Order: sequence, then C-alpha cells, then structure tokens
Amino acid sequence: MVVRQIHDRGIVSPRVLKAMQAVPRHEFVLPEHLQDAYADKPLPIAEGQTISQPFMVAAMTDALLLEGAELVLEIGSGSGYQTAVLSMLAREVIAIEAQPALASQARARLERLGYSNLRIEEGDGSSGWPACAPYDAILVAAAAPRVPPPLAEQLAEGGRLVIPVGGADDQELVRVVQRDGRTNRETLYNCRFVPLIGRYGWRRNASSEEKNPHANE
Ligand code: SAH
Repeated sequence: MVVRQIHDRGIVSPRVLKAMQAVPRHEFVLPEHLQDAYADKPLPIAEGQTISQPFMVAAMTDALLLEGAELVLEIGSGSGYQTAVLSMLAREVIAIEAQPALASQARARLERLGYSNLRIEEGDGSSGWPACAPYDAILVAAAAPRVPPPLAEQLAEGGRLVIPVGGADDQELVRVVQRDGRTNRETLYNCRFVPLIGRYGWRRNASSEEKNPHANE
C-alpha cells in the first residue's frame, strides 16, 4: 500500500511514509471489509460515513508539513485512522467527530491500540474547537461549501489548514496558510468527501431532502 499507492504517486516524505506504514489500517475497518483494508479506495464505516482512501490520508497529512511539535485539530475523525496517523507526526491531536457512536468507537479503538497523544471530542467541528486554539495545523476530512471562517481564525501564525471545498459530488483539496496577518490559499488535488454537516458546513439531510422533501416528517 505505502509503496504503490502513496510513494509512487508522489508522497515521498519519509516521516509520512513511516507513519502510514506503522498504523494498522485493518484495525479501523468493519469486519466485512477486512480483505480490502489496504486496498486503493475509501471504505464504508458505521453511520453512513467512510474511512478515507489511503492515498488521500497520506496526501492530506503531507500537506500539513508536520515536524513533530505541533498541536493539530482534526475535524471528522470517523474511524480514527487519520487521527492515529497524525498523532505519530505531531505533539498532540484534538479530533472532533459529530456522530457520537463513531466518536466513542474511535476513542475505544485508539485507546486499545495504545495511542495517547490524542483525544476525541463530540461536536460540530465546522466551528473549530476554540477552547484549545490556536492550532499549528487543522485537517478537515469532510467537504465544506467554503472554508469555514472560524477554522482560518483558529490557525496559529504559520499554521496550515487542509480542507476539501466544493459541491456535494466533487471538491478541491485546499490548503490555507496563515502568515503575517494574511491567508494564502492554494489548490492541491481534486477529491470527493462526505459532507461536513454543521453551522459552517452543509445543512443536515440536505441531499435526502432534495430527493424526498418529506424525508424528515
Ligand atoms: N478521516 C476519517 C474520515 C471520516 S469521514 C477516517 O479516515 O475514518 C468524515 C467524518 O466527518 C464522518 O465521520 C462524519 O460524521 C464527520 N463529520 C461531518 N460533519 C462534521 C462536523 N461538522 N464536525 C465533526 N465531524 C463531522
């Protein structure tokens, strides 16, 4: 997985490759997808969500330019796989997950696997997590219609924010860097993520309401 899907596609940071090699992805997938744990694709997890494709996890991690001393905020921790990868490359990771069931499963899994410099909080991460701001790096694993202003505001000087931005079906992975009171924005990859649901994301059930306006009645 690491050589063919990640290194050979241009992610060559030894630290990122080592972290991707170290985290046991098979511990984060559902039993029925075990045989695909290291396959080149995202996989379904509980609550209609997905564990991201290995390449995308590596590419987003790489884009954060972590050196080891950072406080990282992750939004949408899902299975906890990306959280584990980040924790190997930073001082501490605070991860926010909107779905309580996913948050508690990921918490138990990461504890069992021995990861300690991370914590998972339940809530709407589209507003960030002001209590521990500023962050040296912020990673959002769900797609937003635009960069949520509170996330850019919670970046430390020199901080990096990586987030998929765009419509429901396809997005661009964007990196925002905060420096000298200015934000610099660049586009890295095309991508497709599940929606960021919340105050600065999409409205809950927007897509099913469009298909069936009575879905919530
Ligand atoms: N990196 C995760 C990907 C999970 S998919 C993994 O590899 O397993 C994206 C996650 O974002 C889902 O678990 C979803 O519940 C969560 N999410 C969506 N909107 C959110 C919000 N506003 N705040 C926090 N989490 C959110």
